[in-house]
Amino acid sequence: MDFKWARRIAKLPPYLFAEIDAKKKEMMNKGVDVIDLGVGDPDIPTPDFIIEALKVGAEDPENHRYPSYQGMRSFRVAVADWYKERFNVDLDPDTEVVALIGSKEGIAHAPLAFIDPGDVGLYADPGYPVYPTSISFAGGEPYAVPILKENNFLPDLNAIPEDIRKRAQLIFLNYPNNPTTAVAEEGFFKDVVDFASKNNILICHDAAYTEIAYDGYNPLSFLQAEGAKDVGIEFHSLSKTFNMTGWRIGFAVGNKKAIAGIGKVKTNIDSGAFQAIQYAGIVALQNYKLGLEDRRHIFQERRDIFCKGLDEAGLSYDLPKATFYVWFEVPKGLTSKEFSSKLLSESGIVVTPGNGFGEYGEGYARVSTTFSTERIIQAVERLKETKF
Ligand SMILES: *Cc1c(COP(=O)(O)O)cnc(C)c1O
Repeated sequence: MDFKWARRIAKLPPYLFAEIDAKKKEMMNKGVDVIDLGVGDPDIPTPDFIIEALKVGAEDPENHRYPSYQGMRSFRVAVADWYKERFNVDLDPDTEVVALIGSKEGIAHAPLAFIDPGDVGLYADPGYPVYPTSISFAGGEPYAVPILKENNFLPDLNAIPEDIRKRAQLIFLNYPNNPTTAVAEEGFFKDVVDFASKNNILICHDAAYTEIAYDGYNPLSFLQAEGAKDVGIEFHSLSKTFNMTGWRIGFAVGNKKAIAGIGKVKTNIDSGAFQAIQYAGIVALQNYKLGLEDRRHIFQERRDIFCKGLDEAGLSYDLPKATFYVWFEVPKGLTSKEFSSKLLSESGIVVTPGNGFGEYGEGYARVSTTFSTERIIQAVERLKETKF
């Protein structure tokens, strides 16, 4: 039998990490001790008090049945309470919060609610690869809005051509930013609200990293900007805050009509997150400060070790205020891909080439500090010995 792949998947480039994984396997088969600093997936386990809550939830037969589509009411209340405490943002748990099976799920499904074939979806580049893919899955045209070093990795929204703005239905933004580690201040978010209301473009802000920050820095929620709820939504996740990437629990909050749109899509695709996980999520959010400083401290220490290594290797970067990544410039004369290939083949270190996050990531590479401190120290030793 010879069936075809639909164009929507046939035309996709291989997933960012697939190519790197293949090369890594090849090296490991040759007996190389590969240090992989590629994927952003915390090595530190989920805090015990959250695991205990899951156990309790798992034993309750009430939780073994289909959950509600929008999430348990108690989970939505916990999200609203957390937004109030953490950001001083008011949310109505009944209309302005929806539970997600990880924020990736919500991001991937959102364009189905807002984009028709022929519409444009804007997204920050470099960025999380799911943004353009989800726009094109919905039949839309993804349009890359560059975020560049000369503008502190914030987009120049006024530079988006008029005809594109007219056709655009939404824009994906993300601060603290993966991969550039850039952060956004209130003034920028105010400009985003203005841009959205002038051009009638829904803001989809991905806030996955607001709790991973250093040196006393406290990242903002987009919803703290005046008028934000009129023009946008925010995706959030327990994955990064609580080292819960494997649990698949997140949420979207903000504009009522947009949240209802996502809810409507989800009603037709999934049946909600396992209630025992939502129950554990409630306990996590209600005690979000427990151990948070310690977790931040570990990532901060690793950041400092790696950045010192970059200094010694003569590579440029901005010291990250947030996220568990370091974004640095590759040596002059090499492309991102050439650099990461060379680093893997000569030193056995996996870094993600910047162009894997979009064309405007060219010239950079990203490392993740979600690997043991010992391995990061080893990687730095090898990096310093590599000649470019
Ligand atoms: C990790 C990540 C997510 C996805 O997190 P989930 O585990 O799906 O909640 C979303 N956006 C960015 C930018 C990320 O780095």
